[in-house]
Amino acid sequence: MSYILETKGLTKRFGGFTAVDHVDLHIEKGAVYGLIGKNGAGKTTVLRLIAGLIQPSEGRVEFPLGRPGIGILLETPGLYMNMSAFDNLEIKRIALGTGSPADSSRLLEFVGLSQWAHVRAGSFSLGMRQRLGIALALTGDPELLILDEPINGLDPNGIADVRRMIKDIARDGRKTILISSHILEELSKTAHVFGVLKDGVLTGEITEDELSSSSVGYIRFMLDDMAAAKEVLERMGIYSYQQKGDHLLLVMEQIHRSGDMIREFVLNGVHVSGCETIHESLEDFYIGHTKEG
Ligand code: ATP
Repeated sequence: MSYILETKGLTKRFGGFTAVDHVDLHIEKGAVYGLIGKNGAGKTTVLRLIAGLIQPSEGRVEFPLGRPGIGILLETPGLYMNMSAFDNLEIKRIALGTGSPADSSRLLEFVGLSQWAHVRAGSFSLGMRQRLGIALALTGDPELLILDEPINGLDPNGIADVRRMIKDIARDGRKTILISSHILEELSKTAHVFGVLKDGVLTGEITEDELSSSSVGYIRFMLDDMAAAKEVLERMGIYSYQQKGDHLLLVMEQIHRSGDMIREFVLNGVHVSGCETIHESLEDFYIGHTKEG
């Protein structure tokens, strides 16, 4: 597995308060990784630790493939408000000692700000500032892009713009994107791997594929003979089921054996008119990993 970034026991304490508690993240090269958690869960602190802006109290951040260039956008971008969008990018590009002015123009085009290249950033709307912040984070063509709550405070158009940009950046798999949000639904539209943070603890990590092939969920059978069906299941050693009405039976265990169950039903004269396997959704996963107690 080629991880571009791993954290091992990553911990940050502020005085007696533990904001990040032994977090082990695993982020593959080329992934769009979503870090999800409520406000105050510790997302920003994890991202600052990864970017090297603060030092861990314990544990470490590792880059197994070598230290990548990192572009970072933390909540609201740090812009020079009295300078133009173009000059904001140029200052960073020149400081990094890379590329040419044409790269700054290209980035402005990518984030849809070409028209405003020579307008003061101070006159920009929040959405435009956020787009400029993304262009700033992309300056120097970093391999790892860290976006902290990039859609916070944006209107629906702004959100759609940011989402489109993230998809475009991720498209060729050259960059790895780590993006945090407290809005699961939004994150699920861009990320393919998810880490759930709760009170500083990483309570779960899962990929979309793992989720869809996970054995967590249930099977919905539409049947004619409920009593016979239950006997069949129990003979198969399956006891976790629920009857709903006269024809609907939910089976909560061994859900990978739906084929065997259908065969046994049919062999025992139970007519099956419908069968559907329902996997745990990302939302169920998230709720399961953030609930109290
Ligand atoms: P939000 O989306 O609200 O920013 P978050 O998940 O990013 O939430 P963090 O900003 O990482 O959360 O904060 C996690 C906890 O650590 C919070 O309780 C916060 O008050 C605390 N914290 C963060 N930075 C500091 C600091 N410099 N000193 C003291 N406490 C801090």
